[in-house]
Amino acid sequence: MLGYICKYAPIEVFESMGVEMKRIDPQVSNFTQADMKMHPNICSFAKGVLEDVMAGNYEGVILTTCCDSIRRLYDVLKQELPDRFIYILDTPRITKDAGITLYEARIRKMIAAYKAFSGKIFEEEKLADILRRKQKEQSISLGESGCDAEREPRQEGAETELQKTASGKADGEKTQTCAAGQTSEAGTGCSAVRTVRRKNIGLIGARANESIVRILQEKNANLAFDLTCTGLKRKYLLEPDQVLTGYTRGLLSQFPCMRMEAASQRDELIERYAGSVDGVIYHTVQFCDNYSYEYAWLKKRLNRPMLALETDYTKQSYGQILTRIEAFLESFGQQPEETEKGRTEAGKEKTGKMYVMGIDSGSTSTNAVIMDRDRKIVSSAVVRTGAKSGESAQRILEEVLSEAGLKREDISWIVSTGYGRVSIPFADENVTEISCHGRGAHYFNPAVRTILDIGGQDSKAIRLNEKGEVADFVMNDKCAAGTGRFLEMIARSLEVDVDELGPIALQSKEDIEITSMCSVFAESEVISLIANNREKTDIANGICRAVANKSYSLLKRVGLEKEFMMTGGVAKNAGVVRAVEEKLGAKLYICPEPEIVGAAGAALYALDKLERSSD
Ligand code: SF4
Ligand code: SF4
Repeated sequence: MLGYICKYAPIEVFESMGVEMKRIDPQVSNFTQADMKMHPNICSFAKGVLEDVMAGNYEGVILTTCCDSIRRLYDVLKQELPDRFIYILDTPRITKDAGITLYEARIRKMIAAYKAFSGKIFEEEKLADILRRKQKEQSISLGESGCDAEREPRQEGAETELQKTASGKADGEKTQTCAAGQTSEAGTGCSAVRTVRRKNIGLIGARANESIVRILQEKNANLAFDLTCTGLKRKYLLEPDQVLTGYTRGLLSQFPCMRMEAASQRDELIERYAGSVDGVIYHTVQFCDNYSYEYAWLKKRLNRPMLALETDYTKQSYGQILTRIEAFLESFGQQPEETEKGRTEAGKEKTGKMYVMGIDSGSTSTNAVIMDRDRKIVSSAVVRTGAKSGESAQRILEEVLSEAGLKREDISWIVSTGYGRVSIPFADENVTEISCHGRGAHYFNPAVRTILDIGGQDSKAIRLNEKGEVADFVMNDKCAAGTGRFLEMIARSLEVDVDELGPIALQSKEDIEITSMCSVFAESEVISLIANNREKTDIANGICRAVANKSYSLLKRVGLEKEFMMTGGVAKNAGVVRAVEEKLGAKLYICPEPEIVGAAGAALYALDKLERSSD
């Protein structure tokens, strides 16, 4: 088996020689080998491929001269695995005739090298057979349609050759089996099925790992097009007299990646594709050379909601990707997800007075709100999240019920949110913390447009529209910088309680600049400031300003639209609040209990559910 990584890799050539080809899509737990053998600035994908190939049983790997990361990967693999077929194909940047001639010659050279390695022989007729078969399979899959749902993305104007190579289908009106006789939401229904308006999402940017596509499917969104490194179905051109030439022409006629000369037309082509979808996910890879800059440009140009998603190819990043995609889909009004328990409870008739509950399971605190049908908060509670989020959820359930003088059976619907939202055993539904904070903020102050939420281990900036819906968001959940955890670490070094940090900072007389935002380096900086007899008050204030600087750059990414609100436990830190207000040049709205904003938002989602089910 040979591994490959790029859509320009001539995999059918190898298949015609009887070789099994596998696209490498690494999901690693650590970068042990890569950390020893590669420079830290190599992209996470290349590092992941190294781990995967070193651990797997590939006969070899076919790389392309994509970028410096892949060239370094080639050098390391060649050195570490001298007995395997490690080959790098020099892919031309030009895709016109000269490029085709060049690439065909390079493919022939690669075939000769593989023959020398394996003894296997290439025959053009066998490649032609494969192309015929794949052409047929492609036309069957394009021809398959259910209830008129499958078609090419809707484009304005005529399609170019490049656009015709896309595999995407905008099937936002895809049908789903449901009870007979229900009205079609899109108005086109087939009999006995309900037509559900699924959200059409386009995917662009650097290679998208499989989990993104899987999450979209699981969340019932339609992947309308995938224009990443690995997303397109290639065009199988068969020129009987020049099989390899025609095949090469097909390879190079794919949607141009950033490496190609034709990339200068990408924004125009992407704009036309984006016209057919509800939103676009732009995927980048940590330390990617090629795809770091396109997003900012496209965000200004595309008239569509966009989500920037960065992957580091570790298994641990799955939760972060999931939250971002879920929040993105929720921002289009996609219905939240019912839990197993919710599905069984949904049909039961609710009696008596109606109460709902929202529970926000964060890394530092677990917060809950009980609300009545008039959207009035009946009780709320905040407890520390222990080692097990399920146990703290049980504790807070008892506390919030007792404060309200209610029993469990009085609560009609429970929505969970926060990073532990899927681990709350008694929740009926879960919604991301992005949507819940947005909803909660609008509930407490409808004038709020921009929210800063600093939690225990992440921070986020959210922009709301005038209806209180999430218009944009960014999250920092990859490092502790600027989060509650960061403040806790520094408070420990200063030997003060984290709750004292704010009041101490307010007494500062002299400005101290903390230059490092990495929590490890910032901690050493603080220790050396203490050793130099600098005042605790000034150090505390320096730290609050460092958090404010980090928060400001997050807020800037969603736009600095007034009114501003701060939520989460750090909103109780007067030093950070003052520093953020100075940076913004505006006041922050802070509600009396900033930790319960997400839980209040979750309770409002629970009320929606009950209103929907009583319609
Ligand atoms: S950027 Fe281009 S050359 Fe590089 S892997 Fe993606 S498709 Fe291949
Ligand atoms: S993710 Fe970026 S840097 Fe990494 S291989 Fe792909 S194009 Fe190169």
